[in-house]
Amino acid sequence: MRLKYTLLILCCLVVLPGFSRKKKTSGYEPLFGKSQAAYQITSSSLKGATFYLVSGHGGPDPGCIGKYRGKELHEDEYAYDIVLRLGRELLKRGAKVHFIIQDKKDGIRNAAILNNSKRETCMGEAIPLNQVARLQQRCDAINRLYRRDNSNYKRAIFVHVDSRSRGKQTDVFFYHSPGSKYGKRLADQLKRTFTAKYDRHQPNRGFNGTVSSRNLFVLRNSTPYAVFLELGNIQNARDQQRLVIPDNRQALANWIAEAMVSDYKKSK
Ligand SMILES: [Zn+2]
Repeated sequence: MRLKYTLLILCCLVVLPGFSRKKKTSGYEPLFGKSQAAYQITSSSLKGATFYLVSGHGGPDPGCIGKYRGKELHEDEYAYDIVLRLGRELLKRGAKVHFIIQDKKDGIRNAAILNNSKRETCMGEAIPLNQVARLQQRCDAINRLYRRDNSNYKRAIFVHVDSRSRGKQTDVFFYHSPGSKYGKRLADQLKRTFTAKYDRHQPNRGFNGTVSSRNLFVLRNSTPYAVFLELGNIQNARDQQRLVIPDNRQALANWIAEAMVSDYKKSK
């Protein structure tokens, strides 16, 4: 009798994991490009979280332009590459990810100089040049998806690699909407994660990331809690190293993803 029960329990232990094995363990995102499109879901640390990832500029608007070894570096291409890498990291951790700005041809690229294109769209729609129309379009796309997404944790991430008119300043800026408690929590977490990473990998460099609230159009007009990142200054020689080395772009994506995991844990 006891043996029968033991067998029964053993069967359950064997069969039940079989059920859970049916859960999604891999995915495919063509935007990443042929070699990176397939990915394994290796963790469930972001299961239930939904992200709206927006790379700055795109289409007719290249954003800031830096000069590097006689070539032009366009902000929108670097922001897009980092956003794709970030999205892949989030997907690997079980998150749902929307790529608001898309380029059908440029996947994740392992080159220093990312060629410029005007192909980027807002989820298939042409991006207008007019600034307000351009920003409203991406907010509309986010808000449409937001209404349909059934998730208790939805966050929008805007990624830029400029420093506006800050001249030679090279800090990383983490902005949240004024009065946004959870936007601020995420921005603070990003700064903490980045500080810890810099302390470990580049102890002599020092890291001066700042968190502040800023009344930006996209933060004001998108529904989810959001952060707006300025990851460097594409016109600054030192910051260019952060951007042109593909492993550095990957590191930035990894760090942002890690910060998301920490913030998501707090929301549970
Ligand atoms: Zn920008």
